Amino acid sequence: MERKAHELAWQECIEIIRDNVNPQSFKTWFEPIKPMKLSNKILTIQVPSQFFYEWLEEHYVQILHKTLKKVIGPNAKLEYSVIVENATSQHSEPFTINLPTGNSSKPVNNELGMPINMDSPIKNPFIIPGLRRMNIDSQLNPRYTFDNFVEGECNKLARNAGLAIAQKPGGTAFNPLMIFGGCGLGKTHLAHAIGNLIKQQHKQKVVVFVSAEKFINQFIDSARQGNNNQFVNFYQYLDVLIVDDVQFFSKKERTQEVFFQIFNHLHQNGKQIILTCDRAPKDLKNMDERLLSRFKWGLSADLSTPDFDTRVSILENKMYQDGITLHKDVVEYLAHNIDTNVRELEGALISLLAQGSLTRKHLDLNLAKQTVKNFVKNSTREISIDYIQKLVCDFYNIPVEAVKSKTRKREIVQARQIAMYFTKDLTKASLKNIGIFFGGRDHSTVIHACQTVNDLIETDKKFRQDVEEIEKRIKINTF
Ligand code: ADP
Ligand code: MG
Repeated sequence: MERKAHELAWQECIEIIRDNVNPQSFKTWFEPIKPMKLSNKILTIQVPSQFFYEWLEEHYVQILHKTLKKVIGPNAKLEYSVIVENATSQHSEPFTINLPTGNSSKPVNNELGMPINMDSPIKNPFIIPGLRRMNIDSQLNPRYTFDNFVEGECNKLARNAGLAIAQKPGGTAFNPLMIFGGCGLGKTHLAHAIGNLIKQQHKQKVVVFVSAEKFINQFIDSARQGNNNQFVNFYQYLDVLIVDDVQFFSKKERTQEVFFQIFNHLHQNGKQIILTCDRAPKDLKNMDERLLSRFKWGLSADLSTPDFDTRVSILENKMYQDGITLHKDVVEYLAHNIDTNVRELEGALISLLAQGSLTRKHLDLNLAKQTVKNFVKNSTREISIDYIQKLVCDFYNIPVEAVKSKTRKREIVQARQIAMYFTKDLTKASLKNIGIFFGGRDHSTVIHACQTVNDLIETDKKFRQDVEEIEKRIKINTF
Protein backbone atom coordinates (compact mmCIF):
# COMPACT_ATOMS: atom_id res chain seq x y z
CA MET A 1 0.00 0.00 0.00
CA GLU A 2 1.24 3.41 -0.84
CA ARG A 3 2.20 5.46 2.16
CA LYS A 4 0.44 8.73 2.68
CA ALA A 5 2.15 12.09 2.83
CA HIS A 6 1.66 12.52 6.55
CA GLU A 7 3.12 9.10 7.25
CA LEU A 8 6.14 9.80 5.13
CA ALA A 9 6.67 13.20 6.68
CA TRP A 10 6.34 11.83 10.18
CA GLN A 11 8.65 8.95 9.31
CA GLU A 12 11.28 11.47 8.31
CA CYS A 13 10.74 13.50 11.46
CA ILE A 14 10.95 10.44 13.65
CA GLU A 15 14.33 9.47 12.17
CA ILE A 16 15.75 12.84 13.04
CA ILE A 17 14.25 12.82 16.51
CA ARG A 18 15.54 9.31 17.16
CA ASP A 19 19.06 10.54 16.69
CA ASN A 20 18.54 13.41 19.07
CA VAL A 21 16.88 12.01 22.15
CA ASN A 22 17.89 9.11 24.31
CA PRO A 23 16.42 5.72 23.39
CA GLN A 24 14.28 5.40 26.50
CA SER A 25 12.65 8.80 25.97
CA PHE A 26 12.19 8.04 22.34
CA LYS A 27 10.41 4.85 23.12
CA THR A 28 8.24 6.47 25.75
CA TRP A 29 7.37 9.74 24.10
CA PHE A 30 7.70 9.34 20.34
CA GLU A 31 6.89 5.77 19.48
CA PRO A 32 3.28 6.05 20.64
CA ILE A 33 2.61 9.07 18.44
CA LYS A 34 0.52 8.45 15.33
CA PRO A 35 0.56 10.79 12.34
CA MET A 36 -2.97 11.61 11.24
CA LYS A 37 -2.97 14.22 8.54
CA LEU A 38 -0.84 16.66 6.61
CA SER A 39 -2.45 19.56 4.87
CA ASN A 40 -1.39 23.16 4.33
CA LYS A 41 1.84 22.36 6.07
CA ILE A 42 -0.06 21.43 9.20
CA LEU A 43 0.89 18.05 10.51
CA THR A 44 -1.63 16.49 12.86
CA ILE A 45 -0.34 13.93 15.28
CA GLN A 46 -2.33 11.86 17.67
CA VAL A 47 -1.12 11.45 21.25
CA PRO A 48 -2.53 9.04 23.81
CA SER A 49 -3.42 11.50 26.54
CA GLN A 50 -3.63 15.01 27.72
CA PHE A 51 -0.66 14.45 29.92
CA PHE A 52 1.32 13.13 27.01
CA TYR A 53 0.66 16.28 25.06
CA GLU A 54 1.69 18.44 27.99
CA TRP A 55 4.86 16.50 28.43
CA LEU A 56 5.81 16.83 24.80
CA GLU A 57 5.13 20.53 24.89
CA GLU A 58 7.18 20.96 27.98
CA HIS A 59 10.18 18.87 27.09
CA TYR A 60 10.39 18.43 23.36
CA VAL A 61 8.96 21.57 21.87
CA GLN A 62 12.33 22.68 20.55
CA ILE A 63 13.22 19.49 18.82
CA LEU A 64 9.74 19.11 17.38
CA HIS A 65 9.92 22.62 16.09
CA LYS A 66 13.29 22.23 14.44
CA THR A 67 12.49 18.87 12.95
CA LEU A 68 9.20 19.98 11.46
CA LYS A 69 10.77 23.02 9.87
CA LYS A 70 13.42 20.86 8.35
CA VAL A 71 11.05 18.24 6.99
CA ILE A 72 8.00 20.26 6.02
CA GLY A 73 9.32 23.76 5.59
CA PRO A 74 9.61 27.05 7.46
CA ASN A 75 5.87 27.55 7.86
CA ALA A 76 5.22 24.17 9.35
CA LYS A 77 2.65 23.83 12.06
CA LEU A 78 1.92 21.04 14.43
CA GLU A 79 -1.54 20.04 15.47
CA TYR A 80 -2.27 17.64 18.29
CA SER A 81 -5.15 15.30 18.57
CA VAL A 82 -5.54 13.96 22.06
CA ILE A 83 -7.19 10.64 22.59
CA VAL A 84 -9.47 11.08 25.53
CA GLU A 85 -8.88 8.11 27.77
CA ASN A 86 -11.43 6.61 30.10
CA ALA A 87 -13.69 9.45 29.26
CA THR A 88 -17.38 9.66 29.65
CA SER A 89 -17.49 11.54 26.38
CA GLN A 90 -15.15 10.33 23.70
CA HIS A 91 -14.90 13.56 21.85
CA SER A 92 -11.53 14.95 21.03
CA GLU A 93 -10.92 17.91 18.87
CA PRO A 94 -7.53 18.54 17.40
CA PHE A 95 -6.04 21.85 18.34
CA THR A 96 -3.23 23.68 16.73
CA ILE A 97 0.00 24.66 18.26
CA ASN A 98 1.68 27.41 16.38
CA LEU A 99 5.34 26.83 16.23
CA PRO A 100 7.77 28.16 17.20
CA THR A 101 6.38 29.30 20.56
CA GLY A 102 4.82 25.96 21.09
CA ASN A 103 2.21 27.44 23.38
CA SER A 104 -1.44 27.08 22.74
CA SER A 105 -3.53 29.88 24.05
CA LYS A 106 -6.57 27.77 23.57
CA PRO A 107 -7.64 25.78 26.57
CA VAL A 108 -7.82 22.08 26.02
CA ASN A 109 -10.06 19.58 27.63
CA ASN A 110 -8.72 16.97 29.93
CA GLU A 111 -10.55 13.73 30.30
CA LEU A 112 -13.04 15.21 32.68
CA GLY A 113 -13.95 17.70 30.05
CA MET A 114 -12.69 20.41 32.36
CA PRO A 115 -10.95 23.23 30.61
CA ILE A 116 -7.42 23.69 31.72
CA ASN A 117 -5.72 26.82 30.77
CA MET A 118 -2.30 25.76 29.65
CA ASP A 119 -0.84 29.06 30.70
CA SER A 120 -1.61 28.43 34.31
CA PRO A 121 -1.10 24.80 35.09
CA ILE A 122 -2.83 23.42 38.13
CA LYS A 123 -0.79 23.94 41.21
CA ASN A 124 -1.31 21.51 43.96
CA PRO A 125 0.48 20.30 47.01
CA PHE A 126 1.65 17.08 45.44
CA ILE A 127 3.00 18.18 42.12
CA ILE A 128 6.47 19.36 41.46
CA PRO A 129 5.95 22.55 39.48
CA GLY A 130 6.20 21.96 35.79
CA LEU A 131 5.55 18.27 35.95
CA ARG A 132 1.96 17.40 35.87
CA ARG A 133 -0.31 14.48 36.25
CA MET A 134 2.15 11.60 36.26
CA ASN A 135 3.95 13.14 39.19
CA ILE A 136 1.00 13.28 41.50
CA ASP A 137 2.15 11.39 44.55
CA SER A 138 -0.55 9.01 45.64
CA GLN A 139 0.50 9.28 49.29
CA LEU A 140 -0.19 5.57 49.51
CA ASN A 141 1.67 3.44 52.00
CA PRO A 142 3.00 0.44 50.05
CA ARG A 143 3.19 -1.65 53.21
CA TYR A 144 -0.60 -1.86 53.41
CA THR A 145 -1.74 -4.41 50.86
CA PHE A 146 -4.47 -6.97 50.41
CA ASP A 147 -1.90 -9.72 50.81
CA ASN A 148 -1.30 -8.78 54.38
CA PHE A 149 -4.88 -7.86 55.18
CA VAL A 150 -6.21 -11.07 56.65
CA GLU A 151 -9.77 -11.91 55.73
CA GLY A 152 -12.31 -12.81 58.38
CA GLU A 153 -16.03 -12.53 58.97
CA CYS A 154 -15.26 -9.17 60.56
CA ASN A 155 -14.13 -7.61 57.30
CA LYS A 156 -15.49 -9.83 54.55
CA LEU A 157 -17.87 -7.37 52.95
CA ALA A 158 -15.52 -4.40 53.07
CA ARG A 159 -12.56 -6.42 51.86
CA ASN A 160 -14.43 -7.97 48.94
CA ALA A 161 -16.01 -4.68 47.95
CA GLY A 162 -12.50 -3.24 47.98
CA LEU A 163 -11.25 -6.00 45.70
CA ALA A 164 -14.14 -5.46 43.29
CA ILE A 165 -13.46 -1.73 43.20
CA ALA A 166 -9.81 -2.31 42.48
CA GLN A 167 -10.80 -4.24 39.36
CA LYS A 168 -13.10 -1.52 38.11
CA PRO A 169 -12.59 1.75 39.94
CA GLY A 170 -15.69 3.88 39.50
CA GLY A 171 -17.33 1.05 37.61
CA THR A 172 -19.11 -0.76 40.41
CA ALA A 173 -22.15 0.08 42.48
CA PHE A 174 -19.82 0.69 45.41
CA ASN A 175 -19.31 4.36 44.87
CA PRO A 176 -18.56 5.78 47.29
CA LEU A 177 -17.27 2.91 49.36
CA MET A 178 -17.61 3.89 52.98
CA ILE A 179 -15.52 1.75 55.29
CA PHE A 180 -16.45 2.29 58.89
CA GLY A 181 -15.63 0.81 62.25
CA GLY A 182 -13.88 1.42 65.54
CA CYS A 183 -10.31 2.32 66.16
CA GLY A 184 -7.57 -0.13 65.20
CA LEU A 185 -9.78 -2.40 63.12
CA GLY A 186 -8.02 -1.90 59.80
CA LYS A 187 -9.83 0.96 58.03
CA THR A 188 -6.69 2.80 57.08
CA HIS A 189 -4.94 -0.41 56.09
CA LEU A 190 -7.80 -1.47 53.82
CA ALA A 191 -8.11 1.97 52.22
CA HIS A 192 -4.41 1.95 51.33
CA ALA A 193 -4.66 -1.63 50.08
CA ILE A 194 -7.43 -0.68 47.66
CA GLY A 195 -5.43 2.30 46.42
CA ASN A 196 -2.29 0.23 45.99
CA LEU A 197 -4.09 -2.46 44.04
CA ILE A 198 -5.71 0.10 41.78
CA LYS A 199 -2.31 1.64 41.07
CA GLN A 200 -0.93 -1.78 40.32
CA GLN A 201 -3.70 -2.78 37.95
CA HIS A 202 -4.47 0.57 36.35
CA LYS A 203 -1.21 2.39 35.98
CA GLN A 204 -2.85 5.37 34.30
CA LYS A 205 -5.26 6.07 37.09
CA VAL A 206 -4.47 8.98 39.30
CA VAL A 207 -5.06 7.91 42.88
CA VAL A 208 -4.69 10.10 45.93
CA PHE A 209 -4.95 9.09 49.57
CA VAL A 210 -5.49 11.92 52.00
CA SER A 211 -6.50 12.04 55.63
CA ALA A 212 -9.49 14.24 56.32
CA GLU A 213 -7.33 16.33 58.62
CA LYS A 214 -4.80 16.97 55.91
CA PHE A 215 -7.56 17.78 53.46
CA ILE A 216 -8.97 20.34 55.90
CA ASN A 217 -5.56 21.92 56.40
CA GLN A 218 -4.85 22.07 52.69
CA PHE A 219 -8.19 23.73 52.17
CA ILE A 220 -7.54 26.29 54.88
CA ASP A 221 -4.11 27.02 53.44
CA SER A 222 -5.50 27.37 49.96
CA ALA A 223 -8.16 29.78 51.25
CA ARG A 224 -5.49 31.81 52.99
CA GLN A 225 -3.50 32.04 49.79
CA GLY A 226 -6.56 32.71 47.67
CA ASN A 227 -6.05 29.43 45.80
CA ASN A 228 -9.34 27.72 46.48
CA ASN A 229 -9.94 27.06 42.82
CA GLN A 230 -6.64 25.32 42.40
CA PHE A 231 -7.37 23.20 45.42
CA VAL A 232 -10.72 22.17 43.98
CA ASN A 233 -9.28 21.63 40.52
CA PHE A 234 -6.62 19.37 41.87
CA TYR A 235 -9.07 17.09 43.62
CA GLN A 236 -11.52 17.13 40.74
CA TYR A 237 -8.76 15.95 38.47
CA LEU A 238 -8.31 12.59 40.19
CA ASP A 239 -9.55 9.18 39.14
CA VAL A 240 -9.64 7.79 42.64
CA LEU A 241 -9.93 9.82 45.81
CA ILE A 242 -9.47 8.14 49.19
CA VAL A 243 -10.26 10.18 52.28
CA ASP A 244 -9.40 8.66 55.64
CA ASP A 245 -11.36 9.49 58.79
CA VAL A 246 -14.10 11.68 57.39
CA GLN A 247 -15.57 12.09 60.86
CA PHE A 248 -13.09 14.96 61.17
CA PHE A 249 -15.18 16.91 58.67
CA SER A 250 -17.76 17.26 61.38
CA LYS A 251 -18.38 20.93 62.27
CA LYS A 252 -16.07 22.04 59.45
CA GLU A 253 -18.77 23.60 57.37
CA ARG A 254 -16.72 25.21 54.68
CA THR A 255 -14.64 22.11 54.18
CA GLN A 256 -17.84 20.10 53.92
CA GLU A 257 -19.09 22.46 51.27
CA VAL A 258 -15.99 22.17 49.16
CA PHE A 259 -15.82 18.44 49.63
CA PHE A 260 -19.45 18.22 48.53
CA GLN A 261 -18.54 20.00 45.33
CA ILE A 262 -15.54 17.74 44.68
CA PHE A 263 -17.53 14.65 45.56
CA ASN A 264 -20.27 15.54 43.09
CA HIS A 265 -17.85 16.27 40.32
CA LEU A 266 -15.95 13.03 40.75
CA HIS A 267 -19.07 10.96 41.16
CA GLN A 268 -20.75 12.41 38.11
CA ASN A 269 -17.70 11.62 36.07
CA GLY A 270 -17.56 8.03 37.18
CA LYS A 271 -14.52 8.49 39.37
CA GLN A 272 -14.10 6.34 42.45
CA ILE A 273 -14.43 7.69 45.96
CA ILE A 274 -13.39 5.71 49.02
CA LEU A 275 -14.03 7.00 52.52
CA THR A 276 -13.30 5.74 55.98
CA CYS A 277 -15.04 6.77 59.15
CA ASP A 278 -14.90 5.76 62.79
CA ARG A 279 -18.68 5.34 62.93
CA ALA A 280 -21.63 4.54 60.69
CA PRO A 281 -22.70 7.45 58.48
CA LYS A 282 -26.01 7.62 60.31
CA ASP A 283 -24.17 8.33 63.54
CA LEU A 284 -22.15 11.21 62.18
CA LYS A 285 -22.96 14.46 63.86
CA ASN A 286 -22.64 18.01 62.63
CA MET A 287 -22.45 16.98 59.04
CA ASP A 288 -24.39 18.53 56.20
CA GLU A 289 -27.40 16.39 55.33
CA ARG A 290 -26.68 16.48 51.63
CA LEU A 291 -23.17 15.22 52.21
CA LEU A 292 -24.40 12.56 54.61
CA SER A 293 -26.90 11.31 52.08
CA ARG A 294 -24.14 11.00 49.51
CA PHE A 295 -21.99 9.03 51.93
CA LYS A 296 -24.81 6.50 51.88
CA TRP A 297 -25.13 6.34 48.10
CA GLY A 298 -22.75 3.50 47.43
CA LEU A 299 -21.87 0.83 49.92
CA SER A 300 -21.26 1.27 53.62
CA ALA A 301 -19.31 -1.69 54.92
CA ASP A 302 -18.22 -2.05 58.49
CA LEU A 303 -15.14 -3.59 60.02
CA SER A 304 -15.85 -5.25 63.32
CA THR A 305 -13.70 -6.89 65.95
CA PRO A 306 -12.10 -10.04 64.58
CA ASP A 307 -13.09 -13.33 66.11
CA PHE A 308 -10.60 -15.64 67.76
CA ASP A 309 -9.62 -17.57 64.61
CA THR A 310 -9.08 -14.39 62.66
CA ARG A 311 -6.98 -12.96 65.47
CA VAL A 312 -4.80 -16.05 65.33
CA SER A 313 -4.48 -15.70 61.55
CA ILE A 314 -3.56 -12.04 61.87
CA LEU A 315 -0.83 -12.86 64.37
CA GLU A 316 0.47 -15.69 62.21
CA ASN A 317 0.48 -13.46 59.18
CA LYS A 318 2.42 -10.81 61.06
CA MET A 319 4.92 -13.33 62.37
CA TYR A 320 5.38 -14.78 58.93
CA GLN A 321 6.11 -11.35 57.51
CA ASP A 322 8.63 -10.59 60.21
CA GLY A 323 10.19 -14.04 60.06
CA ILE A 324 9.31 -14.94 63.62
CA THR A 325 8.08 -18.23 64.99
CA LEU A 326 6.23 -18.62 68.25
CA HIS A 327 4.74 -21.63 69.90
CA LYS A 328 1.10 -22.18 69.06
CA ASP A 329 0.12 -21.87 72.73
CA VAL A 330 1.68 -18.46 72.92
CA VAL A 331 -0.10 -17.23 69.80
CA GLU A 332 -3.39 -18.54 71.04
CA TYR A 333 -2.86 -17.03 74.43
CA LEU A 334 -2.34 -13.61 72.89
CA ALA A 335 -5.30 -14.01 70.56
CA HIS A 336 -7.45 -15.12 73.42
CA ASN A 337 -6.60 -12.29 75.73
CA ILE A 338 -6.36 -9.32 73.42
CA ASP A 339 -9.77 -9.04 71.89
CA THR A 340 -10.17 -5.30 71.57
CA ASN A 341 -8.75 -4.54 68.16
CA VAL A 342 -5.99 -5.44 65.74
CA ARG A 343 -3.72 -2.58 66.71
CA GLU A 344 -3.65 -3.76 70.32
CA LEU A 345 -3.04 -7.29 69.14
CA GLU A 346 -0.04 -6.21 67.11
CA GLY A 347 1.13 -4.09 70.01
CA ALA A 348 1.07 -7.10 72.33
CA LEU A 349 3.05 -9.16 69.86
CA ILE A 350 5.68 -6.46 69.46
CA SER A 351 5.85 -5.96 73.16
CA LEU A 352 6.37 -9.68 73.69
CA LEU A 353 9.16 -9.78 71.13
CA ALA A 354 10.80 -6.75 72.66
CA GLN A 355 10.71 -8.25 76.13
CA GLY A 356 12.11 -11.46 74.84
CA SER A 357 15.01 -9.87 73.06
CA LEU A 358 15.82 -7.29 75.73
CA THR A 359 15.79 -9.68 78.63
CA ARG A 360 16.96 -12.66 76.59
CA LYS A 361 14.11 -14.61 78.02
CA HIS A 362 12.58 -17.50 76.21
CA LEU A 363 9.43 -16.52 74.34
CA ASP A 364 7.21 -18.94 76.17
CA LEU A 365 3.76 -18.92 77.60
CA ASN A 366 4.94 -17.45 80.87
CA LEU A 367 6.48 -14.47 79.22
CA ALA A 368 3.35 -14.06 77.12
CA LYS A 369 1.23 -14.01 80.27
CA GLN A 370 3.45 -11.42 81.83
CA THR A 371 3.41 -9.31 78.70
CA VAL A 372 -0.31 -9.43 78.32
CA LYS A 373 -0.71 -8.42 81.93
CA ASN A 374 1.61 -5.47 81.51
CA PHE A 375 0.27 -4.67 78.16
CA VAL A 376 -3.34 -4.52 79.13
CA LYS A 377 -2.51 -2.52 82.23
CA ASN A 378 -0.03 -0.07 80.77
CA SER A 379 -1.03 0.64 77.30
CA THR A 380 -4.73 0.46 76.94
CA ARG A 381 -5.18 3.32 74.56
CA GLU A 382 -8.73 4.03 75.57
CA ILE A 383 -8.53 7.07 77.80
CA SER A 384 -9.81 6.36 81.25
CA ILE A 385 -12.22 8.52 83.19
CA ASP A 386 -9.81 8.58 86.14
CA TYR A 387 -7.16 9.95 83.92
CA ILE A 388 -9.33 12.72 82.56
CA GLN A 389 -10.43 13.66 86.06
CA LYS A 390 -6.82 13.79 87.20
CA LEU A 391 -5.65 16.01 84.35
CA VAL A 392 -8.54 18.44 84.71
CA CYS A 393 -8.07 18.65 88.48
CA ASP A 394 -4.33 19.13 88.11
CA PHE A 395 -5.02 21.94 85.70
CA TYR A 396 -7.25 23.73 88.22
CA ASN A 397 -5.12 22.72 91.14
CA ILE A 398 -7.88 20.98 93.02
CA PRO A 399 -7.99 17.49 94.49
CA VAL A 400 -9.59 14.79 92.35
CA GLU A 401 -12.10 13.99 95.10
CA ALA A 402 -13.60 17.43 94.61
CA VAL A 403 -15.15 16.60 91.25
CA LYS A 404 -16.78 13.54 92.75
CA SER A 405 -18.03 15.39 95.81
CA LYS A 406 -21.29 17.20 96.33
CA THR A 407 -19.58 20.60 96.42
CA ARG A 408 -21.27 23.32 94.39
CA LYS A 409 -18.40 25.78 94.61
CA ARG A 410 -18.11 27.58 91.34
CA GLU A 411 -14.61 26.55 90.31
CA ILE A 412 -15.23 22.96 91.28
CA VAL A 413 -18.51 22.83 89.39
CA GLN A 414 -16.68 24.12 86.35
CA ALA A 415 -13.85 21.59 86.60
CA ARG A 416 -16.43 18.85 87.06
CA GLN A 417 -18.32 19.96 84.00
CA ILE A 418 -15.20 20.11 81.88
CA ALA A 419 -14.12 16.66 83.02
CA MET A 420 -17.58 15.32 82.17
CA TYR A 421 -17.42 16.98 78.79
CA PHE A 422 -14.10 15.33 77.93
CA THR A 423 -15.25 12.01 79.28
CA LYS A 424 -18.24 12.15 76.95
CA ASP A 425 -16.07 13.23 74.08
CA LEU A 426 -13.12 10.90 74.47
CA THR A 427 -14.40 7.70 76.02
CA LYS A 428 -17.14 5.30 75.18
CA ALA A 429 -18.72 5.64 78.60
CA SER A 430 -22.48 6.10 78.61
CA LEU A 431 -24.06 9.18 80.15
CA LYS A 432 -25.29 7.03 82.98
CA ASN A 433 -21.83 5.66 83.72
CA ILE A 434 -20.25 9.07 83.53
CA GLY A 435 -22.74 10.25 86.13
CA ILE A 436 -21.78 7.35 88.37
CA PHE A 437 -18.07 8.13 88.08
CA PHE A 438 -18.69 11.70 89.11
CA GLY A 439 -20.10 11.00 92.52
CA GLY A 440 -23.31 9.26 91.49
CA ARG A 441 -24.93 11.99 89.47
CA ASP A 442 -27.84 11.72 87.13
CA HIS A 443 -27.38 11.38 83.35
CA SER A 444 -29.22 14.66 82.83
CA THR A 445 -26.53 16.40 84.90
CA VAL A 446 -23.98 15.09 82.42
CA ILE A 447 -25.99 16.39 79.46
CA HIS A 448 -26.32 19.74 81.15
CA ALA A 449 -22.56 19.84 81.82
CA CYS A 450 -21.74 19.13 78.18
CA GLN A 451 -24.14 21.83 77.01
CA THR A 452 -22.76 24.36 79.44
CA VAL A 453 -19.21 23.66 78.33
CA ASN A 454 -20.17 23.93 74.67
CA ASP A 455 -21.92 27.25 75.32
CA LEU A 456 -19.00 28.66 77.27
CA ILE A 457 -16.53 27.59 74.59
CA GLU A 458 -18.54 29.68 72.17
CA THR A 459 -18.90 32.73 74.36
CA ASP A 460 -16.01 32.91 76.82
CA LYS A 461 -12.54 33.28 75.38
CA LYS A 462 -10.60 32.53 78.54
CA PHE A 463 -12.71 29.44 79.12
CA ARG A 464 -12.11 28.27 75.59
CA GLN A 465 -8.36 28.64 76.01
CA ASP A 466 -8.47 26.60 79.20
CA VAL A 467 -10.42 23.85 77.52
CA GLU A 468 -8.02 23.80 74.60
CA GLU A 469 -5.06 23.60 76.90
CA ILE A 470 -6.59 20.73 78.85
CA GLU A 471 -7.42 18.92 75.63
CA LYS A 472 -3.84 19.30 74.50
CA ARG A 473 -2.55 17.82 77.73
CA ILE A 474 -4.93 14.90 77.56
CA LYS A 475 -3.97 14.15 74.00
CA ILE A 476 -0.23 14.59 74.38
CA ASN A 477 -0.23 12.10 77.19
CA THR A 478 -2.43 9.60 75.51
CA PHE A 479 -1.76 9.30 71.81
P1 ADP B 1 -7.94 1.96 61.83
O1 ADP B 1 -7.61 2.85 60.67
O2 ADP B 1 -9.26 1.29 61.67
O3 ADP B 1 -7.81 2.63 63.15
P2 ADP B 1 -5.55 0.56 60.99
O4 ADP B 1 -5.86 0.36 59.57
O5 ADP B 1 -4.58 1.61 61.35
O6 ADP B 1 -6.88 0.77 61.83
O7 ADP B 1 -5.07 -0.86 61.58
C1 ADP B 1 -4.36 -0.99 62.79
C2 ADP B 1 -3.29 -2.05 62.63
O8 ADP B 1 -3.89 -3.33 62.51
C3 ADP B 1 -2.47 -1.85 61.39
O9 ADP B 1 -1.13 -2.13 61.68
C4 ADP B 1 -3.03 -2.86 60.42
O10 ADP B 1 -2.03 -3.31 59.52
C5 ADP B 1 -3.49 -3.98 61.31
N1 ADP B 1 -4.63 -4.70 60.78
C6 ADP B 1 -5.94 -4.35 60.88
N2 ADP B 1 -6.74 -5.25 60.31
C7 ADP B 1 -5.93 -6.22 59.82
C8 ADP B 1 -6.17 -7.43 59.11
N3 ADP B 1 -7.41 -7.85 58.79
N4 ADP B 1 -5.09 -8.17 58.77
C9 ADP B 1 -3.86 -7.77 59.10
N5 ADP B 1 -3.56 -6.64 59.76
C10 ADP B 1 -4.59 -5.87 60.12
MG1 MG C 1 -7.07 4.85 60.67
